[in-house]
Amino acid sequence: MRPMQSTRRDRRTGFHSGFAKPINYHCFSLVPRPLDGYPPVHVKKQIPIIKDSKGGGESKSNQIHLISRRRFFIIGGGAALGAIAALNKASASLIVNKDRPHWRFCQKCYVMFYNGDTEKGSCAAGGAHAAQGYEFFLPFDVPGTPTAQTNWRQCEYCLAMFFNGYQEKGHCPAIKVVRAGIPSFGAHKADDSFRYVLPLDVPGTATAQTNWRYCVKCHAMFFDGYKKKGSCAAGGAHAAQGYNFVLPHDNR
Ligand SMILES: [Zn+2]
Ligand SMILES: [Zn+2]
Ligand SMILES: [Zn+2]
Repeated sequence: MRPMQSTRRDRRTGFHSGFAKPINYHCFSLVPRPLDGYPPVHVKKQIPIIKDSKGGGESKSNQIHLISRRRFFIIGGGAALGAIAALNKASASLIVNKDRPHWRFCQKCYVMFYNGDTEKGSCAAGGAHAAQGYEFFLPFDVPGTPTAQTNWRQCEYCLAMFFNGYQEKGHCPAIKVVRAGIPSFGAHKADDSFRYVLPLDVPGTATAQTNWRYCVKCHAMFFDGYKKKGSCAAGGAHAAQGYNFVLPHDNR
C-alpha cells in the first residue's frame, strides 16, 4: 500500500520534489515574457518546461524534464521565439507541455500506470507495477471532444490511470478492506494534480497505440491488445468496455 504520508511529489507540477524542478530559471532571463506574474494561480495549466535539446530523456547536468517531443506549445509569442532562437544548443527551448510523460504499460497487470515516482504503486498481480515498452505522453487540461474523453485521473494509491467519471471508483489493488469478514479491495482515489483527456476512436499511428480500453470491473485503463487480459483488482482478468483509446507515446 502506498503510504499516505508520501507526498514528496510536488502536487502542483507532479514532479518529484526530491528530483528536478522542471523550471530552469537561468533560461528565463533570456525569455522575458513567461516570467510575468509567475507563479500564476492556475500554473498547472501553464507549466513552463525546458525541453532537453539532446532529446534523450532527462538531462542529468541541468536536471530538467524532457516532455513531449511530439506536441508542445511555445509561450511568449514572437518575443519568446526570438529569444529561443538566440539560445545556444546547450540551452533549451521554452515550452508549455500539454502531455505528461512517464506513463507506462505494466507487464504484470496490463494497466497504464505512472512511472515517474520512486514508488511504483500497487499491482493487482502482486507487488509493484513493472514498466514495459513505450513511454506514453498523456494530454491533460484540454477540453473534451467527441474523440477525447475527460475524467481520466491517476489513482493516488495504486498509480493507475482510472476513469473518475462514475460515482463508483472501481477497485484499487492498493486498498484492502474487510467487509463482513471477507477481504476485498477498496476504490481508487483521484490524484488532484492532473486531469487527463484521452484520445479515442481515431486511427493508430507510429506514435499512438490503439487497444487501450476501460476495464468495467476495476475502472482502470488497460491494454487489450494481447490474448491475455492482465490481472484485475476486482478479480480475474480485465474486461473491456466502451471506447477504444489511442494513446500517444514515444517512437522507440
Ligand atoms: Zn501492475
Ligand atoms: Zn487505485
Ligand atoms: Zn480491471
